[in-house]
Amino acid sequence: MATVEFVEATRVYPGADRPAVDAFELQIADGEFLVLVGPSGCGKSTALRMIAGLEPVDAGRIRIGERDVTDLPPKNRDIAMVFQNYALYPHLSVAGNLGFALKAAGVAKEERTRRIRATAALLDLEPYLDRKPRMLSGGQRQRVAMGRAIVREPQVFLMDEPLSNLDAKLRVSTRTQIASLQRRLGVTTAYVTHDQVEAMTMGDRVAVLREGQLCQVDTPLALYERPETVFVAGFIGSPAMNLIEAPLEDGCARFGETVIPLSRAAARAAADEGATAVTVGFRPEALELRGDGEGFAITVDLVEELGADAYLYGTAVAPAVSGRIDATPTVTVVARLAPKGVPRRGEKVRLRIRDDAFHVFSTKTGRRLPD
Ligand code: ADP
Repeated sequence: MATVEFVEATRVYPGADRPAVDAFELQIADGEFLVLVGPSGCGKSTALRMIAGLEPVDAGRIRIGERDVTDLPPKNRDIAMVFQNYALYPHLSVAGNLGFALKAAGVAKEERTRRIRATAALLDLEPYLDRKPRMLSGGQRQRVAMGRAIVREPQVFLMDEPLSNLDAKLRVSTRTQIASLQRRLGVTTAYVTHDQVEAMTMGDRVAVLREGQLCQVDTPLALYERPETVFVAGFIGSPAMNLIEAPLEDGCARFGETVIPLSRAAARAAADEGATAVTVGFRPEALELRGDGEGFAITVDLVEELGADAYLYGTAVAPAVSGRIDATPTVTVVARLAPKGVPRRGEKVRLRIRDDAFHVFSTKTGRRLPD
């Protein structure tokens, strides 16, 4: 087992106008499950491939444990990678696939057999050891791909969207299996996905990436409760956090009759920027239905009844913000409500933001203002 460390690590593809991975500073602890998440093209796979040695590092270093591996070829890094397409050998049996890398590394036959058996037992693959990949289900193939990594007993697992070829239901059960298997084996793991639910449910910590930059690295709960930027606030959580630009008056942000008191430090930071408005964020579950004179009014556009909850999507009049030329007169708001007595489409209702259940960001920089 080992730690993994990016030290100001950068990758610029030839001809690109900006780095795909821009001066990453990131430490993955021994035995940790770290998820890299972000929209398509943000640099997740490139970062993973830099750990693997499949992508050169243009500046900075990559360390695994005590070793600086920046200039080492992949085979000398003691890592095992699980790819999105599994990359199984079609002409080899499951046992052949599991043992391939061990054979290539010159591991003796007895030891190979022992490790193949142990891995197959761990992944419930024993009945299929003689089958070729084409005779397996999608989920079984996925387990063989995992097994090929496990059997090598590497210091680090690297996984690039390993669930994306499975159907939705299997993806949910497999993500639980992978997470618990990783915890049992205790092998340091870096895992790439574009799916924030997968990231939040699997990772000890989650690194959120955007356009080659590391935005925030934190536990799932900390990312949810204290996003450092508007981008992270909007990316983590489903349905997404409501984000509304609201004018500042006397140290408060105003939205309808809702007055959001900024902390002194936040008001000072906004004043230092010369801001006349801030971006206020509140999650769907931070809203509750209220009577006249409280909160803000919305017209209900759509109600999704999910049994345990109902999601209400509505339109509110946007707060007037001076100097905004592209001002849209309305904003969309989503609220998570208890399923009983949910308003119908077309109704006008009022919603209130629960006390202290809001986030305040600088509209100019997108950064969280001090609490
Ligand atoms: P992600 O995995 O988050 O979807 P990637 O790491 O694959 O993102 O890509 C990051 C950026 O680098 C993207 O802009 C992508 O177009 C670019 N890129 C990826 N691979 C190559 C390559 N081999 N050559 C040139 N540009 C690439």
